[in-house]
Amino acid sequence: MRYLSMRGNEVWRISSQPNCFSARVLKARYYIFTDILSAKVGSYPSFTWRSICSARELIADGLLWRVGNGASINIWDDPWLPGRGNSRVLAQKIMPNWTTELVHTIVDEATATRIFSIPLAGCNSEDLLVWKFEGSGEYTVKSKYRVLTTENLQTLRIEVTCPLCKVGSEDSDHLMWSCGILQYVWAALKITIPLVGNLSCCKDRFVKTFSAAEEQQKHFIVISIWSLWYRINKMIHKGVKLSLQELLGFIKGYEHELRFIQETNNLSSRSMAKEIWRPPKTGVIKINFDATFKSSDKCAITAALARNSSGDIIGAETYLFEDVVDAFMVEARACERALIFAGMMGLRHLIMEGNSLTVIKSVKKQENDKLIVRPIINHITLLETQFDNVTYRFAPRLANEAAHILAIEGRRFQRFGFWVEGVTDAVKEKAMNDRLDWFQSSYSTF
Ligand SMILES: [Zn+2]
Repeated sequence: MRYLSMRGNEVWRISSQPNCFSARVLKARYYIFTDILSAKVGSYPSFTWRSICSARELIADGLLWRVGNGASINIWDDPWLPGRGNSRVLAQKIMPNWTTELVHTIVDEATATRIFSIPLAGCNSEDLLVWKFEGSGEYTVKSKYRVLTTENLQTLRIEVTCPLCKVGSEDSDHLMWSCGILQYVWAALKITIPLVGNLSCCKDRFVKTFSAAEEQQKHFIVISIWSLWYRINKMIHKGVKLSLQELLGFIKGYEHELRFIQETNNLSSRSMAKEIWRPPKTGVIKINFDATFKSSDKCAITAALARNSSGDIIGAETYLFEDVVDAFMVEARACERALIFAGMMGLRHLIMEGNSLTVIKSVKKQENDKLIVRPIINHITLLETQFDNVTYRFAPRLANEAAHILAIEGRRFQRFGFWVEGVTDAVKEKAMNDRLDWFQSSYSTF
C-alpha cells in the first residue's frame, strides 16, 4: 500500500506538471489525444506505465481542479467541487449561464454550498489540478497513505493487490505468510511448516514456524522475507522483473556467506582461546614439554616445565639427548622425559601438554601400530602407572612457548638436569605473561 502511494507520487507529478519530461514521454507513447487520468493501459505497456495506471485509480479520487478561468475544466465530468465527498457535479441538466438561483436549481443544497465556497481567481489564472487531501494541494505519500488507511479505505473501495502473486491483498499477513510466491520460495528452501490448526491466524503460524525452525532455516526465513521485500521495491521503483531462480540463488548465497562468516568468527575466537596457556585445576600440575633439535650436531634438548593452578613454576628440567637423527623421535623423548621428571618430583595428578600432535595422539591411542616411536610410547604408558591420573593435551605452539624457551635456554647455557635455583629470566617472564594472558581472557569472557 505504501509503495502504491509512492507510485501515486509519480502520477501526481505527471498530472500536475504535464510539461515535465516523463509526462511528455508517457503522453507521446500512451495518451497523445487525452490526459493521464483517462488514458488506457494499452497492449504492450512498460512496467512503469502499468504500475502508473494501477496507482492512477488511487490518486484519481484525490484529484481536484482548482478553478481558475475554467478553460480546462469540464464541469460535468471533471472533479472540481471542493471538500471531502465526490468532487464531480451530480446533475443532469446543462444550463447556459451560472447564477446563484441556477446553481440552486440544478444541484442540491450541499453541492451548492461547496460550489459557492470556491475562491474565485482572476480571469487570467489557469485551472490547476490539486490534491484535495492536503491543505497545500500537493500530493504527498503520507497524506495518501493516511487516506487509504482511515475510513476512506472503505469508501474508496481500493483493493491493493500483492505485486508478487497478484492474488492476495497486500497486508502483513499476506507478505509474511500466505503469499503464494513466499510459500513457493519456502518450499524450495525446504522450510518445514509445522502442522497447526487452520483456525490459528497467520501471525501465530509464522511464529510457530519460525520458533520450530533450525538455525539454518531461521536464516532462510528471515533472508527470504527481506529479499522479497527488496525485490518488490526494485520491481515497483525500477521496473526490475522478479526472477524466482535468481531470488533463490541470492537467498542461498546470502545464507551461505552468513554461515561462512559465523564459522570463521567462531573458529578464530576458539583458536584464539586455545592459543593461550591455561593453568590446571587446583591439585593438578600441568607439565608443558618441548624439544629443540639441531641436525648439525645431532643433539636434542628436551624441556619440561611444571606449573600449578596459580600458574607458578614449581619445577623445571632440561635433558640432553645425543646422537639423535629424527626430530619426531625427539618429541616422543620429550614426553617420556617429562613423565620421568614428574615421577621424580612425586606428582600425582598430571596434565601433559606438548605441541606435537602425533605424539599426543599416539599416547592417547595406546595400541600397537607401526610407529617408529612405538617403543618410546610403550615406555610412556608404563611410566603412567605410577601416577593417579595423567591427561594428555595438545597445545598450540603459542600455548607451549614457555617450555620451548626453556629448551632453548638449556641449549644456550648448556644446562641439563633440574633447575634447582630457578629458571632463567626469559622463562620466568614468559610464565608471567602466560598468567596475565589467561587472566585477561577470563575477564573478557564475562
Ligand atoms: Zn502475494
